Amino acid sequence: MRLPTVTVVISHPSFATAHPTGSHPERQERLQVLLDAFPDPKIAPSASTDQLESCHDGTYIEQVRAASDSGAVQHLDADTICTPSSFELALLAAGAAIAAVEQSGFALVRPPGHHALPGRAMGFCLFNNISVAARFAQRELGLARVALLDWDVHHGNGTQDIFWDDDSVLYASIHQSPFYPGTGGPDDSNATTVNVPLPAGCGDEDYAEVMERIIEPRIEAFAPDVLLISAGYDAAAADPLGGMRVSADGFHELAARAVRLAPRIALVLEGGYNVETLPDLVRATLGGLESGREA
Ligand SMILES: [Zn+2]
Repeated sequence: MRLPTVTVVISHPSFATAHPTGSHPERQERLQVLLDAFPDPKIAPSASTDQLESCHDGTYIEQVRAASDSGAVQHLDADTICTPSSFELALLAAGAAIAAVEQSGFALVRPPGHHALPGRAMGFCLFNNISVAARFAQRELGLARVALLDWDVHHGNGTQDIFWDDDSVLYASIHQSPFYPGTGGPDDSNATTVNVPLPAGCGDEDYAEVMERIIEPRIEAFAPDVLLISAGYDAAAADPLGGMRVSADGFHELAARAVRLAPRIALVLEGGYNVETLPDLVRATLGGLESGREA
C-alpha cells in the first residue's frame, strides 16, 4: 500500500479572533499560537448548511444561527458559549475539516467538534467537524469506508452517536475514564465502534500499546479508504484539563502508527488547552506522519 502524506495545514485567521470566549479554556489564543507557528496555512472555506445537514438536524443548525444572530452571548449548554460570531466560525471549522479530507491536510480549527450531537451543542462543540468531513468523503470523494481515530483525552460521544448504526464508518477512541462526558465505557461498543477507556496517568507507552493491541488490528481489519483523526492534545502531560501524560514524542508515535493504517489520511484539531505546548505537539504529529510514511 502506498502510504499517504500530510503536508498541508488548513486554517483561517478568524479562528484567532472570532467566537470570543473570555477566560474559557477553549479560547482564541489556542489558534493564535498555532497560526504563529504555522503562519502560511491554506485558507479554509466555510461549510454549507447542506453539508452540516449530513450530520445535524436542520432545526438545530437554525437554532445556532438564531443564537448568533440575536447579538447576545448565550450558553448552549453548561460549558458551550455561542457569541454573535460563533455560527460563522463553526461553519468555517467544518469547512476546514472538509478541506482537510479533500487535500489530505491537518485542519487547525476551533470550536472543536467531537462532542456535538445531531441536535445539540455540547462540551465546547457546536458542529461535529470531523463527522461532516467523513460524510463529505463518502458522498463527494467516493471514499466509501471511513475510519475515525479519536485520541482526544475525552470520549467523542457526538461522533460515536452520529455513526453508531452505520457500518461504513469505524469509530475508534482512546480516552480517559472516568471523565467527561461519561460515555465510551468498555461495554459501549459494537461492530464498528471501538472504545478504549484508560485511567488517568497513562502515558506514551500505554497509548502505543493500545494502538498495537487493539486499535491498529481493528482499523486494519476494517480496511478503510481514508482515516480521519480527531487530533486533540488534552491528553498531553501539561494540559490543564486532561489527566494523562502523553509527550510530544508520544504524539509523534501515534501519528507514525496511524499513517500506516489507510491509503489516505487527514486530521482535525479537537481539544488541547495548554497554549505553551500546543504548537510543538502539532509539529510532532506532522513529523510522526512523515517518519511513519518513511519507515
Ligand atoms: Zn478533549
